[in-house]
Amino acid sequence: MTSARAPEDFIAGGILHDSGRSEPCTIYVKDGLATIETGEPERGIPYADFIVDMVNAHTHCADYGLKVPPGLSLEKLVAPPEGLKHRYLSGLDQESLKDNMVRFDRASASYGAASFIDFREGGLQGCRLLRECSEDAIILGRPISKEFDPEEVAGILEVADGIGLPSISDMDHGYIEAVADAVRDSRKIFAIHASERIREDIDFILSLDPAFVVHMCEATRDDMDKCAEAEVPVVVCPSSNRYFGKETPIRDLLDSGVDIAIGTDNGMLCEPDLVTESKLLADILAGQGGAPEDTLGRLSNFSSKLLYRTKRIKCKVNGGYLTVVPGEGDATLPGGRNAPFRVRIESR
Ligand SMILES: [Zn+2]
Repeated sequence: MTSARAPEDFIAGGILHDSGRSEPCTIYVKDGLATIETGEPERGIPYADFIVDMVNAHTHCADYGLKVPPGLSLEKLVAPPEGLKHRYLSGLDQESLKDNMVRFDRASASYGAASFIDFREGGLQGCRLLRECSEDAIILGRPISKEFDPEEVAGILEVADGIGLPSISDMDHGYIEAVADAVRDSRKIFAIHASERIREDIDFILSLDPAFVVHMCEATRDDMDKCAEAEVPVVVCPSSNRYFGKETPIRDLLDSGVDIAIGTDNGMLCEPDLVTESKLLADILAGQGGAPEDTLGRLSNFSSKLLYRTKRIKCKVNGGYLTVVPGEGDATLPGGRNAPFRVRIESR
């Protein structure tokens, strides 16, 4: 992974995507720091798209070292505790877990993301490990006790930015409500997977006041309208869904007015390459008869949406990064770079 090194100095013009808005700009990068000037760029300089604070909205980093055979079902692969992934994780020693996390963190940065929101397995210890391994991670922990344990949840919330749960089908409703209440009281992020394998009760899910939900592959239009009404964004993970033979009805989500963000989900299924993931989302949307849309712009949207949804929270997106997405066929950035990378924003 190469992104840790500062890019050479360069000037490029193109479109700046920030909090869902897009406008022309020129970027001056010196000593690895970018200065942004909005307005029409000069002609003849390299072209790129620039995304402010690009957030990978859903990841599981610890299984980055697992190679999975094609065609496993959701239950066989990710259902706790017997799915292949959970057997793999419980068989790893601490150093190997950390190694996966560090490698994932570097990969995420090398693909240009400012930050990634990780649904962290392994209770309090799992959260601690990732905190040690990554500055970019927004950590949503998961309790391991079978019964609601206020002390365990409080401990997780001290280290993590919130809690991310598997799904309402995997757990007792009273337990989930108790966790959601504790997260709300602590003013942190509560999020949950929703309607991935089967349709789930959206009224119950929304009653938990989640900051966002993940997947909604099996949701009905009515479920989506309710999310839009409650202003709860949906994180879509196209590659992961595709592995399981699923497809989120992205066009319906957009038609119903839901804010969507993009995540790369399990590290074992695909690289944390958000720009490629956004292209897949555009392809799926086109296949569903949706209008072509500015998916790169969408990548700039989530950090502001998340902060809006959770304005009481204490955590902050590890911001201040600009993701540079070189124009196709344009190899005139330093070193002929044509893959996305990130630079720190100095001023604007
Ligand atoms: Zn997930």
